[in-house]
Order: sequence, then C-alpha cells, then structure tokens
Amino acid sequence: MGHIIDTPLGQTLRAGKPTLWLNPEFKADKALQSSELSLTDIHQADQRLRRCAALLQQLFPELISSNGLIESELLSANNLQQLHYPDLSGKLMIKGDHALPVAGSIKARGGIHEVLCHAEQLALEHGIISSYDDNYLKLLSEDAQALFNRHEIAVSSTGNLGLSIGIISAALGFRSVVHMSVEAKQWKKQRLRDRGVTVVEHSDDYSAAVAAGRAASNADPVSYFVDDENSPRLFLGYAVAALRLQQQLIEQQIPVDAEHPLFVYIPCGVGGAPGGINFGLKQIFGAHVHCFFAEPVQAPCVLIGMQADDKQHPESVYQVGLRVDTEADGLAVSMASGWVCSVIENMLSGIFTVTDEELFRNLFRLCQSEGIEVEPSAAAGLSGPVWLTGTEPGKAYQQQQRLEPLMHNATHLLWTTGGLFVPAEEMQKFQQRGSQLSAR
Ligand SMILES: *Cc1c(COP(=O)(O)O)cnc(C)c1O
Repeated sequence: MGHIIDTPLGQTLRAGKPTLWLNPEFKADKALQSSELSLTDIHQADQRLRRCAALLQQLFPELISSNGLIESELLSANNLQQLHYPDLSGKLMIKGDHALPVAGSIKARGGIHEVLCHAEQLALEHGIISSYDDNYLKLLSEDAQALFNRHEIAVSSTGNLGLSIGIISAALGFRSVVHMSVEAKQWKKQRLRDRGVTVVEHSDDYSAAVAAGRAASNADPVSYFVDDENSPRLFLGYAVAALRLQQQLIEQQIPVDAEHPLFVYIPCGVGGAPGGINFGLKQIFGAHVHCFFAEPVQAPCVLIGMQADDKQHPESVYQVGLRVDTEADGLAVSMASGWVCSVIENMLSGIFTVTDEELFRNLFRLCQSEGIEVEPSAAAGLSGPVWLTGTEPGKAYQQQQRLEPLMHNATHLLWTTGGLFVPAEEMQKFQQRGSQLSAR
C-alpha cells in the first residue's frame, strides 16, 4: 500500500471527520496466537504483582483495603444508559480505571508492573532477595535503598505514564526522570516534582519526547528506560486487567459466551494500554469479546498505524495533515507503537474517532448521570456504543460477526481510563465546558 493520505480513509481523517474503521485483518477465532506472548505471560505478570502486594501496601496505605492489589471497580451504568443510550439493548457498564489508586489512571497496572520487574531483577542480582519466594519487604531495607539510589528509571510521557512510573520509582528509592511533551498538564508535572522526580520538559510532541528520553537514558549505564513504544513488560502489566475483569464478571454473574457477547470501548494513545487489555481479553474470552479503541480526530495514530503493510513502521498523523491538537492529553500521540500494532493485528475489531466537543459532552454526561468524574481522554470510549449500534459500519460489523440476534444479551463496557488526581478547579472547568456544549 502507498501512503494513507491517498486513500478515502486518509481523506476522512485529514478532514477531521469522526469515523468508525473496521479492522479487515480481524479474525474472531484465530486471534489467540501471538508469536511472542501468551496467557502464561499474563499470569506471570499477575503473580509478580501479587508477590509485591505486601510491599505495595507498605508504600501506599491506600492499598491496604485491597490487600495491595491495584484494581478498580466494575460498575453498572443504568442512569447513563437510560438517559443517553435509550435505544441500546443489552447492558451498559463501566470499568472504573478513572479511580485506579496510586497513579490515578490506567497507567497504574502497566507502569508499576514494569518498575517492579526492574526492581526485582536488581534485587535478585545483588542478593537483596534470593528467590521469588523470598520476603519482598526486603526491598525496603537500607541495602536495597542504597542499591536503588544508584540506579535511575527514566520515561517519556504525555503525563499519566510519567505519574505512574515516577510515583513508584521514587517510592522505591530510585532516581527518577520523566521527560514530558508539550501537551503534558502543569499539575501533572508539579505532582511529580513534589515527589522528588526530575521533570524534563520538551518543546516537541510526544514521539519526539520519547526519542529524546530514550537517547539520554541509553547513554547512561545505570539508567533504565521504560519505552512506551516497545515494552512487553508494560503491555503485560496492562493485560493483567483482563484477568481481573474476568473475575469481576464472574462475581457479578455477567456471562460472556457464545450467547452473550462483550463489547469493550477503550481510549487509545500510543496503543499499549488498550492493546494489552485487548490482548488479555482475547486470550480469555476468544471470539466472544469485541474490542474497539477510541482516538481523538486530531490524533488517530493507531488507526493510521494499523493501515501499514509493515506494522513495525507506522506513519504519523502529521503525514495526513493532522496536528495532535486535542485536550485529551493522554491520547495526544502522533505515532503509534508499531510493535503493539503488530501484536493486535488480528485481535482488534475496530477504531472510532471522537472530536474534542464530543469528549467534553461525554465527560459531562458521565458526571451528571453517574457522578463519575473523568479527565477528557477517559471520556472517549463513551461514543462507542452509538458507533456500534447506530451507524452503517457498526451494523456491518454486527452482521459480519453474526451478532444481530445476540445484541439484547450483550454487555457494553466503557473503560474510563483516568481522572482521580485531576485538581478540583480543573475538573470544574472541564464540566463547565461539557455543560455549555450539551446545552447547544
Ligand atoms: C495513556 C492513556 C490512555 C491510552 O494508553 P496508551 O498506552 O497511550 O494507548 C488512555 N487514557 C488515559 C487517561 C491515558 O492516560
């Protein structure tokens, strides 16, 4: 294929028109294979987080009530459904990662998993612990602190990944450096500086901040770089959410099977968090789960990345004349992770795009109906059920997958991905903007 700009899809994207793209490579049943990763890897990531649960409880008292697990609730969204999706058959639900403790966003599971991987490895190499069965509270000892303080953990971030990595790294005693792109919110930078994290500001966009951060870290032998574009450790930490969701669905007696499809709508930036969840859900639910990502109309980098013949080398949104101009800072990414695009090539059902106006309307509706406050990025998924049930491409998908007779049994899951730490005055501005847009 040539450049995406020469295609009808490219023209739609360039015009900033919202769209639903269906993945032609989606394979309902064959989706379980990835050459690199498996369900076993997800279980290992889950085990690591469990080994570290007592440690995490020591570091973050807010985790005492969950026995050291970083998890969010699975919520019913009856009011939202009645008010704003009156024609939706099936059940509307919310996976509440907007309130995920410690990091305040979906980045918590992946980011904390990766830093724990590194800390565990260093601790084993230096004899702080002798095996996976050892007492992980030894990672809080003076010897461990001295060790970690000789090492640096670096990351590039539009904001939330930096919060996740910075908070856990600093808590464990590492030196921590977060490279931030221009989109990053001031309060996110301040929150990190307050914890002793070094914040490096870049005048470029996110992909440029990643490149600069990676180069600086690679030049320093005691620096470990968390690479948002190429990180199986991050991806597997995100994928653990699928195991946790499976458990919550069982507890709430919500079936997902050949008669009861599950539709999941997840906001997407570089692709890692939604990709990890997509991968995990496919390992668990196979053909019965359908994952759709949500991207801003000005930053549909994964939609563009999925068009490439060679998924490892995606084009950027600049190449279709877009400018990454969005209030959804968590999704403000110009170039997808090529690695993630290749892993989910056959697993992703589709991607829809959302205007900023729509994000703010969604954010306001969610607060009005359910009392749930989210950041703009986290409201992107709310447009999903309408795309799937009320548009031509959505109906085409139902038909292709023979879902029409099952829609009354469906669960539609909106994944709200961030918001816990948004300062009250910022949140008030978001709500006001959503209210004004809704009144029109
Ligand atoms: C990072 C983020 C996402 C998307 O994750 P990616 O790994 O960048 O695709 C979605 N929502 C919020 C709030 C985020 O911070």
